[in-house]
Amino acid sequence: MPDAKSDLKDDGELKEFFYQLKTLEKDHFYAKIWHIDIISAKDKKSAKAQIESELDVILAEKITKKETKAEFKIFIVELTNEWRKHWTTVHVCKVCETPYTHLMKKQMNEYCNSEVCSDRCNLLVRKDKIDEYRLQYGKSPPCIYKITNKESGMVYIGQTTQPVTLRWYQHMFHLTGTKFHEHVLNSKIDDWQFEVIEVVKDVKTLNEREQHWINHYDSINSGYNTATAKAEDKSKKRQKSQDASSNNDDKKEEENHEYKQSTENL
Ligand SMILES: [Zn+2]
Repeated sequence: MPDAKSDLKDDGELKEFFYQLKTLEKDHFYAKIWHIDIISAKDKKSAKAQIESELDVILAEKITKKETKAEFKIFIVELTNEWRKHWTTVHVCKVCETPYTHLMKKQMNEYCNSEVCSDRCNLLVRKDKIDEYRLQYGKSPPCIYKITNKESGMVYIGQTTQPVTLRWYQHMFHLTGTKFHEHVLNSKIDDWQFEVIEVVKDVKTLNEREQHWINHYDSINSGYNTATAKAEDKSKKRQKSQDASSNNDDKKEEENHEYKQSTENL
């Protein structure tokens, strides 16, 4: 980071100060930043007085027992050219193309450090990177899997873009009250056989491929996949989770099955 001692202006001129006001709440490990901005003043003392009068608050740099009147703790430093550039240069978000500065981002409580305007856009970048990485290197290819009850031969068909072993772990130990999980609940792990039945090259065709295998094994009528009457709510959830992240689709996969089935039956 830039050296704070460089670029100081001559005495008498107005200088710029960067400041943060933090709450005094003791129950937070990190004090909350309540206000952050840049202000012009003759010196640090008058900058502080100006902030106190503009925001109608009482500030202290160090909070001691005597200073019980202070409402906020202030961190204030003179702004160097390099820090001014850091806080005020206008960037364009590489996801949504909204102009932003680092100061604006902090003021909006956005803490991501990458070249995007917000945590929301940061998630989109990361998701793209993950999908790209997975498709390119095949570390965790999207796939369709089958879980078979060894005794009855009944099957559950699922899709995932997460590592299959994680998905299988979730099926066995994170029970969600679906038809399949009711059967899992009263069983042992060695009652089940886990298989990947198709590695899907184009992630956009996951639903289609999953439906193919559900039909192939007739796993709604004679297996553990389910159909439900609550098609409309689920379709909204499904769309939302698809927009946000394909990983979320994994978590909603039982619901997706239900939605697809009930719309197909209409
Ligand atoms: Zn953005």
